[in-house]
Amino acid sequence: MTLVTCNRCRLVMFEVTLEQAVKEVQTFNEMFDQLSLEKQLMIYGGHKATIENYKKCLGCQGSYKYFKDAKEGDAPDGVTINPILRRDQSEPKSQVMMVAKFLGLSCLVLIVMLLMSAVALIILKVIFDDTSGFGLLLICFALSMVFTWIFFYAKDSSPK
Ligand SMILES: [Zn+2]
Repeated sequence: MTLVTCNRCRLVMFEVTLEQAVKEVQTFNEMFDQLSLEKQLMIYGGHKATIENYKKCLGCQGSYKYFKDAKEGDAPDGVTINPILRRDQSEPKSQVMMVAKFLGLSCLVLIVMLLMSAVALIILKVIFDDTSGFGLLLICFALSMVFTWIFFYAKDSSPK
């Protein structure tokens, strides 16, 4: 069991894997469903467990990603320690989201290609007074390459 400390409020929690968290949510909700409506409301405020519960600091509601390894003395003796999702875990991407992302990306690329073509056409017309297809194709290709490079570079270096 790894103890971690919240970077913002210093609360100490222990890490669980996504698999463990999902299992615990399931177990809790099965138990929850067995209770009477009054008990569900009285003991748990009528709320079922969700994986979201494992993604926030119990103290400050901060993200599970803003935790670091706990040092000795971080957790006072006898204090209750609650579970939180491990920092390197993330939810599995749903199929729908992946398809939507792919379609969105395709549209984006298409729009950018069109924009690039328009820009290239204007450049050729204004500067070189040339509207032949070859020059256009060359500039369009070059601009697309530059954009693709920028896009993937920016994506890789963006914080997760
Ligand atoms: Zn916190």
